[in-house]
Amino acid sequence: MREIVFGPVRSRRLGLSLGVDLLVPKTCSFDCLYCEIGPTTQKTIERKCWRPTEEIQKALEVRLSDPTLHFEVLTFAGSGEPTLHQDLGKILKFAQKLTDRPICILTNSSLVFRTDVQRDLCAFDIVLPSLDAAIQETFLRLNRPVPGLKIEDIIHGLKMLREKMTGQMWLEIMLVGGINDNAQDLEALVKAVEYIKPHRVQLNTVARPPAYPEAKAIALETLQGLCDLFTPKAEVIYYKDQKENQYRRVSSEEIITLLTHRPCPSEEIAQALGYDYKDTLLVLQQLVQTGKVKTKIYQKRVFYYA
Ligand code: SF4
Repeated sequence: MREIVFGPVRSRRLGLSLGVDLLVPKTCSFDCLYCEIGPTTQKTIERKCWRPTEEIQKALEVRLSDPTLHFEVLTFAGSGEPTLHQDLGKILKFAQKLTDRPICILTNSSLVFRTDVQRDLCAFDIVLPSLDAAIQETFLRLNRPVPGLKIEDIIHGLKMLREKMTGQMWLEIMLVGGINDNAQDLEALVKAVEYIKPHRVQLNTVARPPAYPEAKAIALETLQGLCDLFTPKAEVIYYKDQKENQYRRVSSEEIITLLTHRPCPSEEIAQALGYDYKDTLLVLQQLVQTGKVKTKIYQKRVFYYA
């Protein structure tokens, strides 16, 4: 079983992300064709203490008291759907007292029609919900939800959440070849996004071994060609086909020189110097741990400075 607090992992969407896993593998309301954790063993919509709350709080307390630990965001994610934990809101409040880093959650959106779940999600700095289909038939085929879930209720729940929340909503759409990449599904997704109005839309496709072989990736160029359909314009978060040699080798000295001029968030450092983002995060982690670079929080973002 995965540790309750894991990582930090280098994430293209979130930076250096320390994970919190509230569940036991694999507890989810869906059984997506593309799931990288494998088939769902506990398919449920029940909100309960899947892992004891005190155990989770203790693990957070221990890990976050480590003075050598460096991370940019704390992310609730892991072995299934985190909103299934009934003490989500309580655990979040506990974590907020222990860290000044932004706190994020990855959710499959399945319970977002519930007002108690909306209330819990509203307290996060960034909510990253997924929405892969806006047509019920495709939803059933791709996400294989607990019986009775309706995609129209989920879309409406996301709209309600977006209206109530003060943080950011970054909506992810996973496009799977031959399943939801046809004109009808895309048109329905575009309309759903217009209705929900997330702050960002992020397109992805299958990049790791999927739970079921039917889940096929679509080409990077195809994803890129779909970005303009969405409002706001979508971003592609699938990088597998990009050539590694298009990036410069990451240099600690260059990073330090840049940071003596101005504090920067990690993605700005990678962009400014033409580095691969994940490699940049690795070097930044080492620079912070050796005391050559420091961090400060400004407007809920981690800035590095030298
Ligand atoms: S919602 Fe996430 S964890 Fe659940 S089956 Fe789908 S991809 Fe896996």
